[in-house]
Amino acid sequence: MGGMFGVVSRQDCASELFFGTDYHSHLGTEYGGIILRNEQGFDREIHSIRNTQFRSAFEDDITRMHGTQGIGVISDYEPQPLFQQTPLGRYGIVTVARINNIDQLVERAFAHKAHFSSMSRGGVNPTDVVSYLINQGDTLEEGLRHAIDSIKGSCSVLLLSEHGIYAARDRLGRTPLVIGQKDGSLAIASETTAFPNTDFEPVRYLGPGEIVRITEDGIEQLSPPRSEMQVCAFLWIYYGFPASRYEDIGVEVVRNRCGAACARRDQELGFGGVDSVAGVPDSGTGHGIGYAVQARVPYQRPFVKYNATWARSFMPEEQLSRDLIAEMKLVPIKDLIQGRRLLFCEDSIVRGTQLQDTVQRLYASGAREVHMRPACPPLLYPCEFLNFSRTRTAMALAARRAIREIEGTDEADPSDYRQQGTKYEEMVERVRGRLRLTSLRYQMMDDMIAAIGLPRTSLCTHCWDASSHD
Ligand code: SF4
Repeated sequence: MGGMFGVVSRQDCASELFFGTDYHSHLGTEYGGIILRNEQGFDREIHSIRNTQFRSAFEDDITRMHGTQGIGVISDYEPQPLFQQTPLGRYGIVTVARINNIDQLVERAFAHKAHFSSMSRGGVNPTDVVSYLINQGDTLEEGLRHAIDSIKGSCSVLLLSEHGIYAARDRLGRTPLVIGQKDGSLAIASETTAFPNTDFEPVRYLGPGEIVRITEDGIEQLSPPRSEMQVCAFLWIYYGFPASRYEDIGVEVVRNRCGAACARRDQELGFGGVDSVAGVPDSGTGHGIGYAVQARVPYQRPFVKYNATWARSFMPEEQLSRDLIAEMKLVPIKDLIQGRRLLFCEDSIVRGTQLQDTVQRLYASGAREVHMRPACPPLLYPCEFLNFSRTRTAMALAARRAIREIEGTDEADPSDYRQQGTKYEEMVERVRGRLRLTSLRYQMMDDMIAAIGLPRTSLCTHCWDASSHD
């Protein structure tokens, strides 16, 4: 994934840029970067945030950097921001993008004798490709429109020019952008979480494909929002920060509604009799609270997360180490486990390996029963539109592995397993058995969509039903 923040102000805004960008740290683990503009020109810094947090990496820079306009990024993929000197002027650029047709775009560029100077993972830096596409336009506005229309996948952009910040939201609105305001300053962010403690109020959510220019004098719309939207439903379910709002819908309340919907369905089916409810920390917490309130069962924490020495950004490549670290972070509280019937809410079940270990440890600590309620339907397809790092291969998904076990092949059509009353129950039972859960009941798609509160046609639900398009 990744997240972006920008600010224009009548005063120096380096500190707001620093804190605003830092509030996007949950969206990426590879690079952080900021670029500021002042009377002398542009000033840029990029650091790896793999083994250190954004704040520590930039604390020296931010004491010497100054400017009244700036943009920043947390990136899960390429080093950013890039600084470009082009016929359209000098600018800094950050993106949240996944460019599925990058090879074709680069080939086409080479055919026109273009060159790219920034590398990323042995290839062309994707933000450099976005910049190349922008430079094809006669104006920055036209170039931005050309860029977001040419890219398959997704692409939102902030561009710090000599005439303010240009912001373009992905043409299908898969990733969000929202403008905040306070006296003398405007900000633009992926996450509204960046606003309250920097004193900004959200004033406008950009629509899909909308392009604006932000200056000290206000917001100028350059391209209106488009009618079709496919905003990522997983923002609310899993990776958005609980204090954020997208399309003016709060993440935490959606998670509470998801948990409540799971509880209501359990009540309809006559399920009851657990001693406590918990969310698998941290992304299951909001769902768990919603379940506990609806079911009138105490919310307790049989596990707590030890965050003091495990920086969130410490994410080694190997899955084994990731699982080990995830396990080391969770510390069980035996008093709340021994002899008890526990129900957990989780945002989703991805591979299930980590969850398998967690359940095992609960039984080892004396749990009598362990019930699981994921807040979304079974994941059947990997994300094709965002650099979403949870899994990139379909067959690593717990539900797909269960289908392989049932069918004896990787070629089985997962759509046969989407509807209840078909093969769905058999697949769920396989997952339950592998995880050694007492019961497993996934959220229904209609309940998840109702909890978010947008029309189904406005949401990307591809992870569950392969329904979205490029
Ligand atoms: S495929 Fe899944 S993670 Fe990707 S944009 Fe769609 S809902 Fe979000």
